[in-house]
Order: sequence, then structure tokens, then C-alpha cells
Amino acid sequence: MIVRMFPNLTIVSHPLIQHKLTILRAKETSPRDFKALVTEIATLMAYEATKDLPLADISVDTPLERFQGRQLAGRKLALVPILRAGLGMVEGIAQMIPTARVGHIGLYRNHDTLEPVDYYFKIPGHEEDRLFFVLDPMLATGGSASQAVSALKKAGAERIRFLCLVAAPEGVRRMQDTHPDVAIYTAALDRELNDKGYILPGLGDAGDRLFGTL
Ligand code: URA
Repeated sequence: MIVRMFPNLTIVSHPLIQHKLTILRAKETSPRDFKALVTEIATLMAYEATKDLPLADISVDTPLERFQGRQLAGRKLALVPILRAGLGMVEGIAQMIPTARVGHIGLYRNHDTLEPVDYYFKIPGHEEDRLFFVLDPMLATGGSASQAVSALKKAGAERIRFLCLVAAPEGVRRMQDTHPDVAIYTAALDRELNDKGYILPGLGDAGDRLFGTL
């Protein structure tokens, strides 16, 4: 059913991810544990979000003989966290892909209109040759995600994936309408948004919980 409604969406339902996500949601989880859990979940999600990356043949010499192996093909990947909560996902994915370049997109949400306002944009060059992973723990209204992807496309990016931890149907729908070419990976698809744009049941404000600014 979800697959038919949201063909771009992959819910990464590995038991380790679901276990860690439940602790992440609990309101008594400290900022220190929250940060560690976001890193761990992002690391695990990186497996799913990279499982179809193309490989190229390469030969190496083992201490004993020549070996015909494979390595990731093409230019280095780019991780692009949406500031500030997206920063929490960088380390976990970079542990898996240490050569990935890191860009940043600064957006904040106008609390009256709930629409994103951008204040920073810096990404690695050779945009047309890279695969970009846009990172934001929460896909809520989809406003920030959609704006971040539009900004990347305007800069020349052609291959973009979006990784989050918790998504709302409203955000997935908006991304699908505005950027049907962007695959979305999430650890959970929650019920709905409340009237302030928070995801229900969600986990609260991811940035505040990550940085202890509650
Ligand atoms: N951003 C958050 O941090 N939490 C939400 O629930 C929605 C948007």
C-alpha cells in the first residue's frame, strides 16, 4: 500500500534501526545519547541508501598475487546536511564513506508560514558528476527538503537522494510532487503533522534534542 502511494520511498525497517529509533523517540533520552543514536542509525541507513551504487573494476596486488577487485565508480559522493539537525547524520554516513565530500545548506523554518528561508549554501564542485545525499532527520512538511533539492538542482546536481529518520506523509507527498526523481530513505513513516508542523508521534525538535537547546 505504502509502496503504491509513495513509489519513491524506502522505509529501512532493519530491527537494529527500529530498536534505536524507539530509544531516540523517548523524551528522557539525553542529548548525548540522542547524538550517538542518530549517528548509529545514519550509519545503518547508509547501507540501504548505497546498495545500488555502481562499481568499477580495479586490480590490486595482495602480498601474494594480483587481484581483480572492484571499487565505487565515478566521482566522490557528497553529503549535504540541512542545517542544523542534518549535521547529526553526517558522521555516521562518513564512517561508511570517508571520502565523501560534505556540503551545507542552511535553511530555517518561518514559524508563521512554516516555509523555509535559506541563509547558507555551499557544496562541492563537479555537481553534475556527483551523487548527492541530502540529510535531515525529519521530513515534516517537505518545505525544507524540497527547497534544498531545488537549490542543489539549480547548482547543477543531477543525482540526488534524501535521507531522513522520521517522515510524515505530507512531506513525502510534497517531495514526490516537486521532485519525483529523488529517492527518499527513512527509518519510519509516521502518522501526520500537527498544526505547528511537528511530526506525530515523531521525536520532537530534532535540532534541539541533538544540541541540547530545549
Ligand atoms: N522538525 C523537527 O525537528 N521535528 C518535527 O517534528 C518536525 C520538523
